[in-house]
Amino acid sequence: MKDIFDKIAATYATGAIKYQHCTSCGHTQAFARPFCVACHQPDPAWREATSGTVVACTTMHRAPTPEWKARLPYAIALIDLTDGPRVMALADPDLNPGDRAVLKPGGVHNLPYFEPMVTKCVFPRY
Ligand SMILES: [Zn+2]
Repeated sequence: MKDIFDKIAATYATGAIKYQHCTSCGHTQAFARPFCVACHQPDPAWREATSGTVVACTTMHRAPTPEWKARLPYAIALIDLTDGPRVMALADPDLNPGDRAVLKPGGVHNLPYFEPMVTKCVFPRY
């Protein structure tokens, strides 16, 4: 299990989120384990998250530790990843439930950070 937690911690430090996908039954899980919790198949495959939909977002005004006090206020969101599992991460405070969000490359404060998905409108020229 320590190897799995070390892998997750190293991934988060780059601003990325990895989750597990079972190649046997298709189940996805955000909490990493050495087996699929749905069918008990060992060694689920790893995937990297890119985007998702906001379930909830709140702004923190009290820090859980002295280290986080300098970062106040900051927002935390629950995100349903596009491919399945629900995760919690730092987020843009303007995100609202139902908004599409993408992981910011590199993260913020060396942690995963979701920001609003910006879609470009391309108008045809005649
Ligand atoms: Zn499975």
